[in-house]
Amino acid sequence: MIHFDNSYARMPQGFFARVDPTPVAQPRLLALNTALAGRLGLDTGTLQSAEGVAMLAGNAVPEGAEPIAQAYAGHQFGGFVPQLGDGRAVLLGEVVAPDGARFDLQLKGSGPTPFSRRGDGRAWLGPVLREYIVSEFMAAMDVPTTRALAAVATGEQVWRDQGGLPGAVLTRVAASHIRVGTFQYFAVRDRKDALQALTDHVIARHYPDATGPLDLLNRVVARQARTIAQWMSLGFIHGVMNTDNMAVSGETIDYGPCAFMDVYHPDTVFSSIDRAGRYAWANQPQIAVWNLAQFATCLIPLMGDEAEAIEAATKAVHGFAPVYQAAWQQRFGAKLGIEGAPNQALIERLLDLMAQQRADFTRVFAGLSDGTARDEFTDREAFDVWARDWQALRPDQDAMAQANPRRIPRNHQVEGTIAAAVAGDMAPFERLFDAVTHPREDRPDWADLARPPLPDQVVHQTFCGT
Ligand code: AMP
Ligand code: MG
Repeated sequence: MIHFDNSYARMPQGFFARVDPTPVAQPRLLALNTALAGRLGLDTGTLQSAEGVAMLAGNAVPEGAEPIAQAYAGHQFGGFVPQLGDGRAVLLGEVVAPDGARFDLQLKGSGPTPFSRRGDGRAWLGPVLREYIVSEFMAAMDVPTTRALAAVATGEQVWRDQGGLPGAVLTRVAASHIRVGTFQYFAVRDRKDALQALTDHVIARHYPDATGPLDLLNRVVARQARTIAQWMSLGFIHGVMNTDNMAVSGETIDYGPCAFMDVYHPDTVFSSIDRAGRYAWANQPQIAVWNLAQFATCLIPLMGDEAEAIEAATKAVHGFAPVYQAAWQQRFGAKLGIEGAPNQALIERLLDLMAQQRADFTRVFAGLSDGTARDEFTDREAFDVWARDWQALRPDQDAMAQANPRRIPRNHQVEGTIAAAVAGDMAPFERLFDAVTHPREDRPDWADLARPPLPDQVVHQTFCGT
């Protein structure tokens, strides 16, 4: 059915635990990403068949798959946890797409593993559908990200604070699931051999031109800097930028309490567990640097003379700022349809106005193209003053149409589709999915989905939902 080639399952002892997904009572396919299936060279008919759904639910392990739970550690909100690992996911195996690109196929919510600690290894429908829709919107906006291939209802209940909830399994697709925390797992155990093997694997898989650990570090730093600049340009707040949730491939990973801002403010936080605002929107670049410094620390033992290695690694981590700055300027410049150095002050002036007047992030930028941005401000004259300076630069409409989504998966909409799905109606989810995965299309029948929440619809908090 699928041709698997499982390079990670060939890694040394201690990298993973072999574990099959735990079968579920009544698998039912809720969503299948046919475009992604095509990208991977998988047959949608087969995936939709009883045999395919059994695989996506974890009820049958397909031939050639070697399910494993991966080991990793991580800093969670700044505190180091030496062992985390896949506690509610298994990597089924790797598939090689028709163009030769290699992807992990992972089931999330697939039952307990040796890394589950006290967790049940399961997921409920809410976070599964949330990750599905948000990650696919990110992909549609060309943000490096893990993808969602399928969501399957388990027919079982999952017990959470809210009570019994319908269980679900997400099939996640990623360039790999190797995290900064994967390196930390071996570094804290002083396993230099394992660190070397992991470094070689990551270079071969993601950075084939990298000449060694230092060069790898430089490249990971640069990719992360560009990814985070894209998050910022969409008003995206990851919510749990722990080192175990940062992929060395540069892909956005582990969509938990993530959210997009409606009203713009740089201090915005949604996650219920982020009480200090560590992972607020504006903090994301500096947190990325902090995480990358942890990554650098893991690589130092592989870099020869320690003093020289520390100096070189420090310099590499400092390389984040210029790449980020250039990417930020390019992304926000494109949002305004202008290029080049003078745009920085102009962008900041607009953001300041938006913050002061609590303007909607997405609607302001989308509205620059059709003249409706002004309506998002209470003090429209202040906006007009800014807009005159901006217009003088002759903004490029095509660049703007490309950079500014007309709609995003807003919290209240995502929650609405989850509530409908729990009640058995997948139609709202399908409609929102279609609309946010065609984010640049201006379609009148989707006009309602571009609206901000009404005051009583505003979502103030999001949850990890594990
Ligand atoms: P996350 O919040 O997804 O970054 O997860 C942090 C850690 O908790 C990872 O090691 C997960 O595998 C583990 N975890 C989260 N939810 C569960 C669950 N329901 N059962 C077992 N382990 C879990
Ligand atoms: Mg995680």
